[in-house]
Amino acid sequence: MNLNQLADALIPDENVKPLQYYEEKYPLRPLEKGAQVTRLAPSPTGFMHLGNLYVALANERLAHQSGGVLYLRIEDTDQKRKVEGAVKVIQSSLKYFGIDFDEGAEICGEYGPYYQQQRAEVYHAYAKELIRQGLAYPCFCTEEEMGKTREYQSENKLLPGYYGEFAKCRSLSEEQIYENLKAGKPYVIRLKSQGDVNVKHTFHDEIKGDITVTENNQDVVILKSDGIPTYHFAHAIDDHFVRTTMVIRGEEWLASLPIHIELFKVLGFRLPKYGHNCSIQKIDEEDGARRKLSKRKDPEASLVFYREQGYHPLAVKTYLMTLLNSNFEEWKLKFPDKPIDEFKYSISKMGKSGALFDLSKLNDVSKDVLGTLTAEEMFDFMQEWAKTYGTDAQRAYFTDREYLLKILTLCMGIGSKKRRKDFITAKQAVEMLHYFFETPTSRVYRQDGDTVKAILEGFAATYSAADDNSVWFNKVKAVAEGLNFAVDMKAYKANPENYRGNVSDVAEVIRIAVTGLANTPDLCTIMQILGEQSAKERLLSTVQSL
Ligand code: GLU
Repeated sequence: MNLNQLADALIPDENVKPLQYYEEKYPLRPLEKGAQVTRLAPSPTGFMHLGNLYVALANERLAHQSGGVLYLRIEDTDQKRKVEGAVKVIQSSLKYFGIDFDEGAEICGEYGPYYQQQRAEVYHAYAKELIRQGLAYPCFCTEEEMGKTREYQSENKLLPGYYGEFAKCRSLSEEQIYENLKAGKPYVIRLKSQGDVNVKHTFHDEIKGDITVTENNQDVVILKSDGIPTYHFAHAIDDHFVRTTMVIRGEEWLASLPIHIELFKVLGFRLPKYGHNCSIQKIDEEDGARRKLSKRKDPEASLVFYREQGYHPLAVKTYLMTLLNSNFEEWKLKFPDKPIDEFKYSISKMGKSGALFDLSKLNDVSKDVLGTLTAEEMFDFMQEWAKTYGTDAQRAYFTDREYLLKILTLCMGIGSKKRRKDFITAKQAVEMLHYFFETPTSRVYRQDGDTVKAILEGFAATYSAADDNSVWFNKVKAVAEGLNFAVDMKAYKANPENYRGNVSDVAEVIRIAVTGLANTPDLCTIMQILGEQSAKERLLSTVQSL
């Protein structure tokens, strides 16, 4: 059979150049020894899973801490899954979480284009080469024929797929092939596998350690009938020509590893290092069992969730680092003020079984992270969130910068001995501060109406915004005394029958009247920030409504 001619007949792409051209076009990178070239290779489906960020972070750390390169490749060979605007979503969400690419789609670089759809020429060049070497062939099998084979294999409990005796088109004669082509029959190009499923090898996975891998014997499709490559074929060529040294990817790809090993071998490429990362898991709320974080069931599986809720990117990144490397938390405790990128991330410390995601732990990390921001940083962060996700009323909170900065200084405990850690997310912080902007509508008191009225009227009559903390508190005490509430707890303990309440109950009523809440930062300061008029109005408006 004239294989050169066959290659030209099967893949009539005039742009294809000799293979050496591609080796020269994409030369080896002049990098220091040990520098890693890693990548993120999402499909443009529009959905970004927390697992994507997890893997992105591992790849980012490996590249940047070794002085290497991180690039973004868009795997858009499956047109059916492609969603309009998805690349923007991928880029903006990764950028939000601090993943900076050195090269890639929409960023450019010497090794592009970084969209697989735009790299047809090089895939065709290599598919032709495999045909020339007798390592690939056309397959004309129809869907119906494939279905029959599948049925037969399943009835007879045989391994499914296109291999050995089931690979019917493997043995087509030259004549038959040209006849089919003449008849215009659609065809795909398949790898002529040289592997044997009875042969097993030990493979070193960077995360899982030594694993046993069975040789591939499947004649997998490398070019689909429209000439577009499959993921397997395209990624092998791309990883080679973008000079990728390390691939950290989800463990769902482990099953395809034998195919990839064979493809790299027949293509004459050196295999990069692989690390297959376990899926992120969670404890199911209903049955308490550990399961994979599900795109369908769990809103927190989507990266959009963290932006809508207003999680600080550094909080998410810090929490993911605790999942990625077991020794990170210890390091963080030791060096709380160091930027997390100074932590030496190590692939060997990644868990071999799935990382357990826990939203309440993320919330704790978030409190700590927000607890390190200045009032100005918190202002900017909340404003950024409100621009996209806030209501009109919430966006208006940011018009008086000085006012909100005063509020944040108080509510974050800035300048006090211990910082407050009430804020978890931008959304929750904005909601928490609503009483500084709107008079609370619902106020629930534990005291009866007459007592509440007496407290509020009594206090409003003497209150002045000029009062410092001690004067303010003396006035609260005076109200308590006027009502025969216990001011001195010792006296109460000596005479418990006459107990009607104490000073803190009085303060609570005032607090609820002013803020709607039973717990807030220092109430005297809150009232000063609100201003005398507004504070008094709140005290008295509640009296009218009783
Ligand atoms: N396109 C694949 C995905 O969507 C990438 C797999 C890989 O990283 O090799 O997950």
